[in-house]
Amino acid sequence: MDRIGHHIDGAATAGSGREADVFNPATGEVQATVALASKAEVDRAVEIAAAAQPAWAATNPQRRARVLMRFVDLLNRDMDKLAEALSREHGKTLPDAAGDVQRGLEVVEFCIGAPHHLKGEFTDSAGPGIDMYSMRQPLGVTCGITPFNFPAMIPMWMFAPAVACGNAFILKPSERDPSVPMMLAALMEEAGLPKGILQVVNGDKEAVDALLDNPTVQSVGFVGSTPIAAYIYERAAATGKRAQCFGGAKNHMIVMPDADMDQAADALVGAGYGAAGERCMAISVAVPVGDETADRLIAKLAPRVEALKVGPYSSGDDVDFGPVVTKAAKENILALIQSGKDAGAEAVVDGSRMSVQGYEDGFFVGPVLFDRVTPDMDIYRKEIFGPVLSTVRAQSYEEALALATDHEYGNGTAIFTRDGDAARDFAKRVDVGMVGVNVPIPVPLAYHTFGGWKKSMFGDLNQHGPDAFRFYTRTKTVTARWPSGIKEGGEFSIPVME
Ligand code: NAD
Repeated sequence: MDRIGHHIDGAATAGSGREADVFNPATGEVQATVALASKAEVDRAVEIAAAAQPAWAATNPQRRARVLMRFVDLLNRDMDKLAEALSREHGKTLPDAAGDVQRGLEVVEFCIGAPHHLKGEFTDSAGPGIDMYSMRQPLGVTCGITPFNFPAMIPMWMFAPAVACGNAFILKPSERDPSVPMMLAALMEEAGLPKGILQVVNGDKEAVDALLDNPTVQSVGFVGSTPIAAYIYERAAATGKRAQCFGGAKNHMIVMPDADMDQAADALVGAGYGAAGERCMAISVAVPVGDETADRLIAKLAPRVEALKVGPYSSGDDVDFGPVVTKAAKENILALIQSGKDAGAEAVVDGSRMSVQGYEDGFFVGPVLFDRVTPDMDIYRKEIFGPVLSTVRAQSYEEALALATDHEYGNGTAIFTRDGDAARDFAKRVDVGMVGVNVPIPVPLAYHTFGGWKKSMFGDLNQHGPDAFRFYTRTKTVTARWPSGIKEGGEFSIPVME
């Protein structure tokens, strides 16, 4: 059986203590073990990073960017291999796994433009004989803690800008699917990254706490569930680190009476059930406006949901979505589905107890479509992170807007309508970070930024786009005077530029 260790100081290294099982979610079998780093192992990686970082920061930004350029080629070369390894540990279909790599790759491409974003600011003659300039300097040793659901994309969203800015980066990926992050670190070094600049330390809370408590580590990027995001944000702040922590979601899609109902139903099926609903931008709540709209929507949705094909990624294109990631995740989803039924929601389609022939021990949950869900129910309040779509009937546009606005999460939302005025009003007023207009999963492209509001995000700078260069650098501003002004004597009042 494979034993996955760490990637430290330019090489795959064995772990030296505790281990966790890595499952194949389609079969339910343990296919590998992954090392869980101790504090001492984390501290050693940090020391190596700190020793390697100054030379990398002194490498000119264009040369650093060239490493990313070669990395893009290597990602394309190994795309199939990466997608297969990803599907085997995560369970998502192969095209979806390739998409996971691709959306990371696009941020790497954006980061090839880092020299432009790092240029800083300059004011000539800010005062008599005085120039003022600001430069962006790397933070030093940075780290990122990533979730299981995008094991390629999210690590790349973090490490590409971090290293492009001249930092060293330590990645602590999810212990559920650690193989692809290990492969990415090896590819970065094949692309020319010096050893010690990107390291992967596998582990659990012990490794995370060691990173948070290490005074050499300057910043923490986190993506995962909200309780852990809040914990990491607080602990990082307590130790004086810069932090951006992205949490869970409950994304609403408003369907107006004038929407193209076929288009809305197609969008909901893909956005609600793709990747078994294990996406932070999945739509988990449909909000038709008016009972007549709701009836028409459910009539279009139900047959589409019933027709969804669930199976292992190895079945190729014949599968719409795969298993969920672990047995514990499956049990949690089934318990929430049961709570919905107990609370009086109507299960229009209930595939929850399905099993896949030949894969009876896999962590499969079939698609569930609920109607007549109300905001007090757990299936509405909690993130299910499974193939479950809840329909909440709103009687007016204002009520629909208030649902998305008042929910504690604020990651993504969408409105389906033919009315430009309603769409414009919604985009402007809704209290959510990313909004789609007739687009169900509005994940911004690499050159815009990604981030939710409310309990979906703790921190002030988003992922990728221009914010990434702000997060991974700090500004130093220099005020320089070269003429002989000082000879005229000291100044005792605060200088004012005239
Ligand atoms: P998770 O919070 O369980 O784990 C995320 C990371 O935190 C992992 O690396 C894990 O090892 C670590 N971790 C877990 N428990 C910890 C603890 N007690 N102390 C310190 N570290 C700990 O999340 P997950 O199940 O891997 O991912 C799914 C969640 O991520 C969902 O809530 C989803 O919405 C969210 N997510 C959010 C975004 C976003 O951009 N907002 C993107 C993807 C996923």
